[in-house]
Amino acid sequence: MPESNRNLRMHDVVIIGAGPAGLSAALWCDELGLDALLLEQRQEIGGQLLSVHNAIENYPGLRASNGRELIERFAERIDNADFDLWTNVEIESVDLKARRISLRSGEQLRAISIIIASGVRPRELGIPGEKEFIGHGIIASATRDRALFAGKDVCVVGGGDAAAENALLLAEVCPTVTLVHRGKRLSARREFLERLQSNHCITLFKESHVTRILGNEEAEAVEILRKDALKPFQVAVRGVLVRIGVEPNTELFRDQLQLRESGHIVITSEQETSVPDVFAIGDVSNPLAPTISGATGAGATAAKVIASRLNSEMRR
Ligand SMILES: Cc1cc2nc3c(=O)[nH]c(=O)nc-3n(C[C@H](O)[C@H](O)[C@H](O)COP(=O)(O)OP(=O)(O)OC[C@H]3O[C@@H](n4cnc5c(N)ncnc54)[C@H](O)[C@@H]3O)c2cc1C
Repeated sequence: MPESNRNLRMHDVVIIGAGPAGLSAALWCDELGLDALLLEQRQEIGGQLLSVHNAIENYPGLRASNGRELIERFAERIDNADFDLWTNVEIESVDLKARRISLRSGEQLRAISIIIASGVRPRELGIPGEKEFIGHGIIASATRDRALFAGKDVCVVGGGDAAAENALLLAEVCPTVTLVHRGKRLSARREFLERLQSNHCITLFKESHVTRILGNEEAEAVEILRKDALKPFQVAVRGVLVRIGVEPNTELFRDQLQLRESGHIVITSEQETSVPDVFAIGDVSNPLAPTISGATGAGATAAKVIASRLNSEMRR
C-alpha cells in the first residue's frame, strides 16, 4: 500500500499482537471477508512460541519439536491469507473508545473493532544483577541452556510448575540446584513435588527471597534473605533461572478497560472487553488456561462475533 494512503484507511479490525491468538484472529477475519490489519511489535511473529524449547504435543492435529517449528507451520498458512501484517510496529497510544491507534512512526489507524492479543511476558524479580547478567549467567530455559550449565551450581527462583520442572531438568546435569520460593508452600503439581523432595541435588529455601545476583563478568552468587532473618546470606552459583509467573501486556490500555486484579483483561463469553467493539483474546485475558489452543479458539470467537455484527448492521 502506498505510504500516503496508510493514514487514511479505516479497517474493519485492527489486531494487536501476532502470537497464536492474533494470528488465528487474522486468519479467521480473512476467512470471514473482514479487512484486518495485524500489528506486531517484534520483528518476528509467534509471541511466546519463540521461547518454547520443549516439544509441543498438546495442540490437536499438529506435533512440533519446539515453538519455532509450530510458527513455521502457522507462517505457511499465513502466506496464503489476505490480511495486512506489520511487524516492528511501535504503538504510541490507543484510544479504545474511539478505536484509534497512533503509531510512533506518526501513522494514525482507525478500526470498527479492535482485538487485543498482546499476550503476557515473564515476571521479573526487579533485583540488581537480573538484567546485568543476561547472557552471563541468567538461564532463559533449562531445556535450551542445560548443556551450557552442566557441571555448574545453579539457582532457580519460583514455586510453581515451571520453576519445579526447570529445577528438575537442571538437577540432571548440575551438581547443586538451590530452589528459592517466597511462599510457605510450593504450588507445583504433586508429581513435581515428590520428585523435588527425593532429589538430593536440590536444596529448597521456602519463605525466602533472592535479593541480588552478584558477580564480575559472570554471575558468581545469589544473595538470599529468609523471612524474619535480619541478614541475607550468599550461595555460590554460576546460573540463575527465574520462573515467578507472568504479567499481561496491558500497559497501553490499563486505564481504559476493566482488568482483573492480576492485570488480565476482563471479557465476556464473546471475548468482548468492558469497551464495546474492543475484544481481548489469548493469554492477556485468560489467566486460568493459557494455552495455544485456548488462544487460537478465542481468536476464532472474536472474529466470528465481529463478522456477524457487521453483517447484521449491513442488513439494517
Ligand atoms: C516455555 C513455554 C512453554 C509452553 N508450552 C506450551 C505447550 O506445550 N502447549 C500450549 O498449549 N501452550 C504452551 N505455552 C503457552 C503458549 O505459548 C501461550 O498460551 C500462547 O503463546 C498464547 O498466545 P497469545 O497470542 O495469547 O500470546 P503471546 O504468545 O504472548 O503473543 C502476544 C504477542 O503480542 C505482541 N505484543 C505485545 N504487546 C504488543 C504491542 N503493544 N504492540 C504490538 N504487539 C504486541 C507480543 O510481541 C507477542 O508477539 C508455553 C509457553 C511457554 C512460555
